[in-house]
Amino acid sequence: MNGWIGKILRVDLSSGACDVSSTEPSVAKDYIGGRGLGIYYLNKLVAPKCDPLSPDNALVMATGPLTGTGAPTGARYMVMTKSPLTGAITCSNSGGMFPTEFKRAGYDAIIFTGRSKTPVYLWLDQGKAELRGADNLWGKDTHETTDMLLAETDTNARVACIGPAGEKRVLFASVMNDKHRAAGRSGVGAVMGSKNLKAVVVKGKGRIPLADADRFKAFNKHILDTFKEGIKETPLGLTVNGTAGVVLVTQNFGVLPTKNWQQGTFDGWEKIQGEELTRRFLKKNSACYGCPIGCGRKTVVDDPRFAGEGEGPEYETIYAMGSNCLIDDLAAITKANYICNEMGMDTITMGATIACAMELVDRGYLKEEEVGRPLKWGDAEALVELIRMTATREGFGDLLAEGSYRLAKRYGHPELAPVSKKQEFPGYEPRGSQAMGLAYATSPIGGSHMRGDPAYFELFGVPQSMDPLQWEGKAKVTKAYQDLSAIIDAAGLCIFFAVRNLAAKDLGVAPVGILEYLNAATGADYTLEELMLAGERIINAERLFLARAGFSRKDDSLPKRLTETPAPTGPAKGMVCHLNEMLDDYYKVQGWTDNGIPKKEVLGRLGLTE
Ligand code: SF4
Repeated sequence: MNGWIGKILRVDLSSGACDVSSTEPSVAKDYIGGRGLGIYYLNKLVAPKCDPLSPDNALVMATGPLTGTGAPTGARYMVMTKSPLTGAITCSNSGGMFPTEFKRAGYDAIIFTGRSKTPVYLWLDQGKAELRGADNLWGKDTHETTDMLLAETDTNARVACIGPAGEKRVLFASVMNDKHRAAGRSGVGAVMGSKNLKAVVVKGKGRIPLADADRFKAFNKHILDTFKEGIKETPLGLTVNGTAGVVLVTQNFGVLPTKNWQQGTFDGWEKIQGEELTRRFLKKNSACYGCPIGCGRKTVVDDPRFAGEGEGPEYETIYAMGSNCLIDDLAAITKANYICNEMGMDTITMGATIACAMELVDRGYLKEEEVGRPLKWGDAEALVELIRMTATREGFGDLLAEGSYRLAKRYGHPELAPVSKKQEFPGYEPRGSQAMGLAYATSPIGGSHMRGDPAYFELFGVPQSMDPLQWEGKAKVTKAYQDLSAIIDAAGLCIFFAVRNLAAKDLGVAPVGILEYLNAATGADYTLEELMLAGERIINAERLFLARAGFSRKDDSLPKRLTETPAPTGPAKGMVCHLNEMLDDYYKVQGWTDNGIPKKEVLGRLGLTE
């Protein structure tokens, strides 16, 4: 095979057996790779109603056919499993250097099943797989773990691992690779912890075969030249200020979630915006393999209260731990981000859960004695202390470790949790960005901006603007962007480059650039229609898993705060999110029943009837 490696590694953690099978060419073509391969295998291997933290769950790590090829931002891999936070499917995506090394080590995907009796890590050295004991690593943070594993294996290897949060099964524990890159969402790290799998270490020198290297090289040059020409006059905002630059945009549109999603504007926004991060803390940019953008931030905080060094924070972290908690102290937010990375936790769910706890205290539903310390809006010290306690499930941290929905429900007010399918939202307020509300509600993994991101056209005008306050007509474009995100995730690309430079020709979405890269790399001769069908197939295969797990329209929801309470401030003042109206349209566009279940005709068209 070309583009694809052609091999899948199956690791049965219960028996310790490591077996190799072939990547079936027809499956590879139909599901592309990455997220697509993940859902293909999970539908085969995992009973949708199983306990996600039991040995019955499986965990798939999968690269895409463009990962490691040199296509710009072709640096991604997916971690897929049944989520302990949501009970739904999840697909969590990360870049850095690990995914390319993983593919060069000789596999398209690794499928973990069962549970090891004792802590282990997988050492994958140029195709040879070996499970090794990890007792000495248990309890270590992700940075210590990485350093110890590199010393034990090969200093040029790459590591993806969990920290103490994954071991303690914090429901939103992440898998960290290259120390600072996160497959962050939905508790993929807790599933690794439940399997006693501490880490995956990869080393590979293998060449990634390309079907037509000359065609690939020529197209790559064209795309990179065009990209460079486009930024000759004005550098890309993502390069200059990272994703933190988005604070300015969301504040201006009135969609910067503030005070646990009560409003969409924050008085202290200027202190937490991207320019401030650049001015105060940026040491240098960092980039994933083959990325011409370099949105990563290597930062140093020398404020003695929150001193530290690491990467980040990203925009989503700044919203969740900043405006959402009424915290305008960027040093504290950056430190909180470092701790989450070291302990292995998702910063979005962490920040949103603390904001939810602040509101529970503010409204008198939760006593500070139960928290064990004062917990007022804007309390930066509390933020940092509670994050440490959550990672080890110490004291009140044990309740925070369950996420905002379970916390708010415990105190009798689940409506205060900013979630869909029990997963916390990223930082775009649906009352002022209607399609984002629809995307959150219908995302297969719960609240997410990475599984279809209509903010591109509603807030950033890519490829063209659409009124963010208008809800009519949003179902069709939201579906198109969800299908596109599935293609990007499956190919192994980063959405930041792919949407702008390889796909967005009009609001109907035309991934012609991805098509050319895929055909040059794989020789699979995709037509544009086949490629777009593959995206739709992935979305419907995920939806089938959800349907079999008992999910339906009732779960495609938003809190009443967003659908019934008018926004109190900013350009969206007076607006609610018109989710129900958009859902009716959306199910029609998808060809699903009014209850959100894929109809037989759609499944037949996509070859999913089996
Ligand atoms: S844009 Fe950022 S996240 Fe995407 S590949 Fe580049 S550095 Fe990585």
